[in-house]
Amino acid sequence: TKMGEIIKGKPVADAITESIINDVEEIKSKGINPKLTIVRVGADPSDLAYERGALKRMEKCGIEKEVVELPVDISQEDFIRELKKVNEDENTHGILVFRPMPKHLDEDVIKYIISPEKDVDCFSPVNVAKVTEGDETGFPPATPTAVMEILKHYDVDLKGKHAVVIGRSLVVGKPVSMLLLKENATVTICHSRTQDLPGVCRAADVLVAAVGRARMVDDTYVKDGAVVVDVGINMDEDNNLCGDVDFDKCVGKSSMITPVPAGVGSVTTSVLAKHVVKACRILNNI
Ligand code: NDP
Repeated sequence: TKMGEIIKGKPVADAITESIINDVEEIKSKGINPKLTIVRVGADPSDLAYERGALKRMEKCGIEKEVVELPVDISQEDFIRELKKVNEDENTHGILVFRPMPKHLDEDVIKYIISPEKDVDCFSPVNVAKVTEGDETGFPPATPTAVMEILKHYDVDLKGKHAVVIGRSLVVGKPVSMLLLKENATVTICHSRTQDLPGVCRAADVLVAAVGRARMVDDTYVKDGAVVVDVGINMDEDNNLCGDVDFDKCVGKSSMITPVPAGVGSVTTSVLAKHVVKACRILNNI
């Protein structure tokens, strides 16, 4: 095998977008306009950055979009009323609520309010359960799905392979582990209490890093010829964007490796668009 192939997100995002454009055209010919509504509380810079990317992607795909911007000090009661309005809006097929939400809003209550059928980024416990059940009518979160889209696009065979995931968060580590399992990988999930983390990771055919520690994963974690997927988005000491993987040290050991930036992060908005179209089809029975 060729070593150190850099597998970028853009070709994956472009391919997904291309197929969505056709899908959206077909749906529109039936008089239905797929639409994403983003619900944002406050104006967190990273939310705004993601929002810009998401809106641009929807535009490319021909998907309608709206942003419901709410004051950062909105009460729980008012927020719930606004979210219910979006739930009930017949023209909205997908809803994205930015998280984490401000501390005074109780996500553990709100997550039960968002309509599971419109919950394109896996906020609702119904969708969390569906990921675990392997029920494909649900919506796994965008980032883990982006990881799977990349592996699929670059023909990474998962069946029977050992996948090691570093991280067990509800947004990345756990769901990506379930999706890998569904593809018949043998999955090991690591976390902060894992003993001999480098040793466990060296057993991986496919290594997924979702730790949130700048360049923590170095060449001592990587088996020769492993596929390395870096989900991390971190700032290093010099304020440079970097992943959880020390790319320079690992690229020569891996068979394929995703870069940061231009890797997993660039596929997430395409996944979101795909989920909006899927929601639109399910809601309209088409
Ligand atoms: P969390 O902080 O919620 O979870 C981090 C996980 O890593 C936890 O399970 C934690 O273990 C584990 N961990 C932390 N330190 C260590 C360590 N030293 N050794 C082993 N395991 C460790 O982060 P997220 O899952 O939300 O995000 C992970 C990364 O992915 C971040 O860099 C984030 O910015 C990025 N991200 C990227 C996205 C994208 O679109 N590309 C989207 C979302 C996130 P424990 O459970 O024991 O505490």
